Amino acid sequence: MLYSELADYYSRIESTTKRLEMTSILVEMFKRADKDEVAAISYLTLGKLYPDFTGIEMGLGEKLVAKAISRAAGVKSKEIDDLYEKVGDLGLVAEEVLKRKSAQLLFQPKPPTVLEIYSILDKISRSSGGGAQDEKLAWLSGLLSGLTPNGAKYLVRTVMGKLRLGVADMTILDALADLYADGDRTLIERAYNLTSDIGMVAEALAREGLEAMKNLKPTPGKPIRPMLAERLQSPEEVMEKLGGTLALEYKYDGERCQAHIIKGGVVLFSRRLENITPQFPDVIDAVAKYVRAKAAIVEGEIVGVDPNTGELMPFQQLMHRRRKYGVEEALEEIPTNIFLFDVMYLDGEDLTNVPYLDRRKRLEEIVDCSGSVKLATRSIISDVQSFEKFFEEAISDGCEGVMAKDITTASVYQAGARGWLWIKYKRDYKSELADTVDLAIVGAFNGRGKRAGTYGALLLAAYDKASDEFCTVCKLGSGFSDEELFSLPKKLSDALVKEKPARVNSLIKPDIWFEPKYVIEVKGAEITLSPVHTAAFGKIRGEAGLAIRFPRATGKWRTDKSPEDSTTTQELVEMYQSQLKKIT
Ligand code: ATP
Repeated sequence: MLYSELADYYSRIESTTKRLEMTSILVEMFKRADKDEVAAISYLTLGKLYPDFTGIEMGLGEKLVAKAISRAAGVKSKEIDDLYEKVGDLGLVAEEVLKRKSAQLLFQPKPPTVLEIYSILDKISRSSGGGAQDEKLAWLSGLLSGLTPNGAKYLVRTVMGKLRLGVADMTILDALADLYADGDRTLIERAYNLTSDIGMVAEALAREGLEAMKNLKPTPGKPIRPMLAERLQSPEEVMEKLGGTLALEYKYDGERCQAHIIKGGVVLFSRRLENITPQFPDVIDAVAKYVRAKAAIVEGEIVGVDPNTGELMPFQQLMHRRRKYGVEEALEEIPTNIFLFDVMYLDGEDLTNVPYLDRRKRLEEIVDCSGSVKLATRSIISDVQSFEKFFEEAISDGCEGVMAKDITTASVYQAGARGWLWIKYKRDYKSELADTVDLAIVGAFNGRGKRAGTYGALLLAAYDKASDEFCTVCKLGSGFSDEELFSLPKKLSDALVKEKPARVNSLIKPDIWFEPKYVIEVKGAEITLSPVHTAAFGKIRGEAGLAIRFPRATGKWRTDKSPEDSTTTQELVEMYQSQLKKIT
């Protein structure tokens, strides 16, 4: 197909707003194309050269494109600039000036085909380094001078990343379904969901027909469109929906990640299928080391872990890792764990049609949990009490809720679909406790890395009036300035003791104990139940105390308060209860 013919289809598509009409023009277009052209045509029609996950973009700058048009049409730059200012679209400018030129030509040059155009655009997108600009300019002006004015219009928009025909991936799938599957999109859509590669799907259809869709498997290196969850408001509803017995997993509050183990290493994709490999070298190393497979696609949540307390960090902290520069520094400040919850492909086998429990078993078989790759904490539950207990544990371990999962034989991995096989249940906690709390310092943990020579975190306690004890509520590692942090050992030295003080009630053993003496002001996200902290232990629920989630030092030392003036465990119980009222 000539590119100019393709451009004529684009003109027709652009002139309609009706989806059905658009689809039928696409059907015509695909019918007209050769088998080896359909992949390129699919990408080009979406304004791309490759699927999004490759990260390859054209996006040529205005200046370069304007220059190329001026060269191709033999028109002065000034004229191009003036016209551009008038019409605001370099595509229209190219069309206009090439119209004038072609009226003057005696011989029309040989028009380029779609594949010729595609292969030069591919070269343009890959060209980099010294001389790249000149090379791109020469290629583009060469292409433009061979095109019809209408063809030039669409080519210019394409190279600038501005081809907006109103055609989405799903519109193309509809057209392909009309052409190859009597309008039934099911199999074609599934193939697309498993590979996220519309060109590959279109070409397979053109070459082998619908049968090819049945054989299409996930491919390591091509992201699977993620399975999504529905949401319900109470454990009772979730249990009923899933038939009374279900799997509950911690719902980690991090970044969803698909890790692909391929021949040359590990590739990571985000929930939006972007390639996030460069941002997480630590996850790459960990997956390569702790997941035993030659080729696999596993899925999990990357969560920041506080290097000082070992506790999970809130999502916002992890977002600091989403940067292009300073990746190395961020590695030390925000180390991560990846909590795997699914496996969709393993050493040649497509597992997306295998039920959840079997997939989980396969996952357990290949993961070595001794490093920073972990399995999502999971439990099979068949009563509401156990559901609630598991939920509270998830919250107190730094998660945002639970993910309930169907365990029947129907529980396949539904790529790209939101359905009732997974149901999320989370409590929207307030992001800040209304009030600060004042807590006694009863212990400390030695710092490592950047915090070597001072403390990594302090162990804090509330005062229990009834038993005259200091009961732990949290480890505090954030909110300090560097200066303050390094002054801590000296500042607290006169409270240092060898053994756990008698009035301190703690299940945690810090590196250093302090006699309760210093009181520090802390802000937190909320109060949660916790099996490891002793404040109000057993008051709300057996085998659990209260903890402060995501505590931060405000910078205020309450020298005006004696340790017995610290926030009491009774106050924490009241804060916990009023927080519940606000939530319900
Ligand atoms: P959604 O993904 O449902 O559109 P969202 O992006 O706002 O919504 P959430 O509401 O937070 O995400 O819930 C779903 C997300 O929970 C998943 O996309 C995944 O990143 C995360 N998640 C955490 N733990 C798990 C788990 N154990 N199983 C599945 N997903 C989990």
